[in-house]
Amino acid sequence: MSELLTADRIEEIGKLGPESPDPAALVAELVGAVDEGRVADPNDTGFALLVAADILEHAGDLADALALVTRAIAEQPDEDAYARAVRGGLLLRLGRSDEGMAELTELRPLLETAPDATYLIDELVESGHTETALEWLTAALDTILERTRTQQHESEDAQDEAAAMIFGLSQQRHDLREELGLPHDEYDNLADRLRAATDHALDALDDGPATLLYWPQAEFDALLMRWPALVDSYPKTWDEHRTQIERALVEASRLGGGDLGVVAGTVAGLATFAGDDPIDEETLDEYADSLSVDEAGLTAWPPGRNDACWCGSGAKYKKCCLPRSRD
Ligand SMILES: [Zn+2]
Ligand SMILES: [Zn+2]
Repeated sequence: MSELLTADRIEEIGKLGPESPDPAALVAELVGAVDEGRVADPNDTGFALLVAADILEHAGDLADALALVTRAIAEQPDEDAYARAVRGGLLLRLGRSDEGMAELTELRPLLETAPDATYLIDELVESGHTETALEWLTAALDTILERTRTQQHESEDAQDEAAAMIFGLSQQRHDLREELGLPHDEYDNLADRLRAATDHALDALDDGPATLLYWPQAEFDALLMRWPALVDSYPKTWDEHRTQIERALVEASRLGGGDLGVVAGTVAGLATFAGDDPIDEETLDEYADSLSVDEAGLTAWPPGRNDACWCGSGAKYKKCCLPRSRD
């Protein structure tokens, strides 16, 4: 047993873990490799220990899981936020409430700066601290929304990151409140609106040509003025609109969709297409189909990194919508 433990094997064990008939053997394989210095890439040492801890946690052995997580943090102090959150959660579940809450509270500012930090909330919820979780989610949303209102000159990256956090935090909060049977408040309505827009974009990919309808900036603003009811189908700003389209396309290609593209809508075109009919999401889908019948109106996605972005901004794709899909 002197083989090296590769990152692929650690990942494989991670997937197998909870369902394996012999979880103890997997834990022994991981910890053994760490003990004997057989982790192929020493940077994966913390990762191996965290996977082992997760298996123990699923098996109900919280105390041993805690010991391994603590060791993972000591091995890799640089990227320890996730490990420390897990440690905080384990301490809470072991009844060491003060220590656990202190650990998580130190990480709490991450909710306002790191789009993936929602794992902090998972730890609170899993240890029965749902009230605190809701409080933290609401406060983080307050802060981020206030920041986007007051800091007009944030970089595009910062804006994308804020949009990703607002989406993630509001969804998590909405679902938690729903489980508790709480009525919708303003942030829940926001969560619904953001979710509906993303779903709508993904739905459009289900039928027929994988072509999404998008609105160039001037058309987007005019659209909502002309048909205010469409406000429920779209996000508040054009930036969020193109971000959602880009994300939906990335998601579609990840799910194996080929021949992806976008068609640009115009208010005048939609008015002609629909005549006196009311404009609802079905009409929008039909309008998109009518545009993509004529291949000339279709822009293939993705563009080349250095080609003009599909959204019509005039910027190169790599500097425009490509980075929007990162999170
Ligand atoms: Zn809802
Ligand atoms: Zn763009």
